[in-house]
Amino acid sequence: MSGSLRCCLAKNILAATMIMLFKLLDFAMIFVFRRAPRKRQKVSQAARKHYLANREMARKVIKELIDELNGCYQVKIGRVAVKHHKSRWGSCSSKGNLNFNYKILFLPRELQEYIVAHELCHLLEFNHGRNFWELVAKTINDYKLRRMALKKINI
Ligand SMILES: [Zn+2]
Repeated sequence: MSGSLRCCLAKNILAATMIMLFKLLDFAMIFVFRRAPRKRQKVSQAARKHYLANREMARKVIKELIDELNGCYQVKIGRVAVKHHKSRWGSCSSKGNLNFNYKILFLPRELQEYIVAHELCHLLEFNHGRNFWELVAKTINDYKLRRMALKKINI
């Protein structure tokens, strides 16, 4: 065997070894990266189960509060949806639809009232201006305290 052939063979073995190593690394990476989403999915499935188990109860509480508070505002309401928001307690649309986070169910009554009154008032005032807060104060006169208390709670 000539020197150059031996060298060529050694290069091939080296190349083959490198390819093997890369394939192993690739496999390892797939394994590592596949595990994380699977875990995350399990959490979100549990979260979804929790949402589905509590959604109707939350809807009942929210609808009762809307009826109670809207006695003051008399605003026309579209669809009321109970959702699984990650970062908000409630929202509304210009069509008069209201959305609420089902986790309202687990809040103290005074904070539930504040959230519902807040969204109802947005159907009359689509901003957080002075008129808006005056409207909120009609039903929740200590809204500032409740708003601060709510900000301290993680959804
Ligand atoms: Zn608002």
